[in-house]
This record gives sequence, structure tokens and C-alpha cells, in this order.
Amino acid sequence: MSRSYEARMLRRAAKEKEEEELRRQQDLQDIRYMKEALRQAAKAAAIGEVPIGCVIVHEGKIIGRGYNRRNTDKSTLAHAEITAIRKASKALDDWRLEECTLYVTLEPCQMCSGAIVQARIPRVVMGCRNPKAGCAGSILNLLQMKEFNHRVEITEGVLGEECSNILKRFFADLRIRLKNEKNEKIHKKETDLPEDQS
Ligand SMILES: [Zn+2]
Repeated sequence: MSRSYEARMLRRAAKEKEEEELRRQQDLQDIRYMKEALRQAAKAAAIGEVPIGCVIVHEGKIIGRGYNRRNTDKSTLAHAEITAIRKASKALDDWRLEECTLYVTLEPCQMCSGAIVQARIPRVVMGCRNPKAGCAGSILNLLQMKEFNHRVEITEGVLGEECSNILKRFFADLRIRLKNEKNEKIHKKETDLPEDQS
């Protein structure tokens, strides 16, 4: 084996090790910030909203947080991502969020995906997919259309199970609540009926 070949192999191995370490660190960061997004989602659940949460990170710092408040605010615009984007833009004093990563527990809808592209966010990390409304790969992939001048790197499945479980739990609780309410109504109707006079 020639000396230069050996040196080349050693350099390559060192580079691969370095890249692996960077990936490992990014994975750890992704988990850390997704936990923050989950914390936002829990805030939504606490006020009876579908639990979806989002954070935006710039240079290792969270500069925007948001959670779903659509019913509370009676606004289509009150999605977690839109709120987080608004806050991040305020923090950076810029509509461009070019060096930011957006973490969201559920795949963004068409409105939020559009806003992400508009804000030039380079990377999105999402927890679980939304097969019925997701526009980052499920129904459409607005984040990676070659026709647009900006495309977004997507990392998916980070704490995917937790992100999906918080939704499942919310809907299971909601079903129980609605069932109980219905039963109460039926019970009330029965007791309200006039006594049999015969
Ligand atoms: Zn949305």
C-alpha cells in the first residue's frame, strides 16, 4: 500500500468521523427542540385545541414559539407555525428567516407551508405526517417544488411517536367527552318527559 494512498484513506476516515459527529449533534439538537415544540402543543391541548406546536431556532436560540389557537382566537391564521413565524420575524426584525430551522410537531398545511417558503426558511423538522392535510409531502410538497425559487430541506419523524400520540390522546379524550355530553342530553330529555298520566 502506497504512503499517499494510506494518507488519503486516513483523511477520508477522519472526515467521515467528523461528519458522523456533526450528524449526531444535529440529531440531539433536533430532539431537544422538538421537545420544545411538544411543550407548545401541550399548551394547545390545555385550552381544548388540537395539540400542534412549533418553535423556530436561530443560532442555537429559540426566537419564535407558537401553538394552535384556531378556535380560541376564531382565526384561520392562528396555526402554530404562523404564530412562530410572526414572532421570529419580530425577533430578527426581518421577514426573511434565512438562517432558521422550524420545528413543528405535525406536517404543515398548505397555508403554513406557503408561509415557510415565503419566509425563506431553509430547514423544517417535523414530528409526524398529516395524511389528510399535510403539504410537506402528504398531499402536496409545497416545500420542495422545483418551480418555486426557494426549497426547504425536510427532516421528518423526529419524536414522531410522541407527536402522533399527543394528537391521538386528544382525539380519544374528545370522543369520550362528546359521548358523555350526548348521554347526559339523552338522560336529561328522559327525565324531562312528563309523567305518564294513565
Ligand atoms: Zn397550518
